Amino acid sequence: METLIFKGIDNIEEAGRIIADGGLVAFPTETVYGLGASAYDSGAAKKIYAAKGRPSDNPLIVHIDEPSRIYELADEITPDAQKIINAFMPGAVTVIVKKNAKISGDVTAGLDTVAVRCPSNEIARALIKASGVPIAAPSANISGKPSPTTARHVMDDMTGKIDAIIDGGACEVGVESTIVDTTGEVCTVLRPGGVTLEMLREVVPDIRYDKNITRAIGENEKPKCPGMKYKHYSPNADVYVIEGGEKEVQAEINRRISENKGKNIGVLFMYGAVYDGAVMLGAGGGGKEYAHNLFAALREFDRLNIDVVFAEFREADGWAQAVKNRLYKAAAYKVIHV
Ligand code: AMP
Ligand code: MG
Repeated sequence: METLIFKGIDNIEEAGRIIADGGLVAFPTETVYGLGASAYDSGAAKKIYAAKGRPSDNPLIVHIDEPSRIYELADEITPDAQKIINAFMPGAVTVIVKKNAKISGDVTAGLDTVAVRCPSNEIARALIKASGVPIAAPSANISGKPSPTTARHVMDDMTGKIDAIIDGGACEVGVESTIVDTTGEVCTVLRPGGVTLEMLREVVPDIRYDKNITRAIGENEKPKCPGMKYKHYSPNADVYVIEGGEKEVQAEINRRISENKGKNIGVLFMYGAVYDGAVMLGAGGGGKEYAHNLFAALREFDRLNIDVVFAEFREADGWAQAVKNRLYKAAAYKVIHV
């Protein structure tokens, strides 16, 4: 299949028509690029799973162009859900709510709940408006690979498999939305992201993290957020997280570089660049910059045929959980505390 490339907002009506006709369009959002199809078309939703190689029990997020449109999809909005919607939509938050009958089971992987998000990115909202339907969209990467934060990343993974890609430049946030389950007795964060726990606590004080956020999930476990159990964000390189203070982290990485002579080594640095014999990419000093740079850096290391990546990490701020969640998975939980 030929994949059309659209620049920014220019071909938004055509892109909207492709979605309305049951096609697949990748589009920018403020978090990562999404791979969209009509949420009212179960055949189109199935095509998303095929293009990504995504396990069929991992549901999609439904994107709307106005926060109030969540009432068209939900059976029930709890008072806490409403507070989160009022405070953070449009934005990098997804709420899980009880679904109504309009949304196909292929979108929600058979669950009786639906994940809903209203992006703040103007191209994303214009696309939803132009298509006339809510858009079901997971991240626009091959399943298991780092999420795409530029149109180039999407082209690398999806050219020939989908109808169109809208190039809207680099994504501002760089990691996926915060997912909040609002269907239980207390709200729980199933995936940390662009809206931090501290921000959420200002409107829903008793909200907490789900216990599965930074640990490996066993094969036979059934986490609330099906995506938690899958291999995620894995570059070809073997990634190790080296976590701790500056001196200790640098000593440990230098030791490991000398142990791995003959391999192509990459360092994702947070503190500074003091390594000989490694390709170095900067993650940025704070969590927000780290989130913005992480996926692009993992993909760049692959492009450079790096065998082993050592990633410097420390919990710097409220973004630490969002970064840690992805970084630990990229490293398959190979985390060294020094
Ligand atoms: P992606 O946008 O590719 O990160 O995928 C969407 C994420 O949302 C996956 O981790 C899903 O497991 C999660 N998700 C989508 N719908 C639901 C739902 N109804 N309940 C819990 N998690 C969901
Ligand atoms: Mg994804």
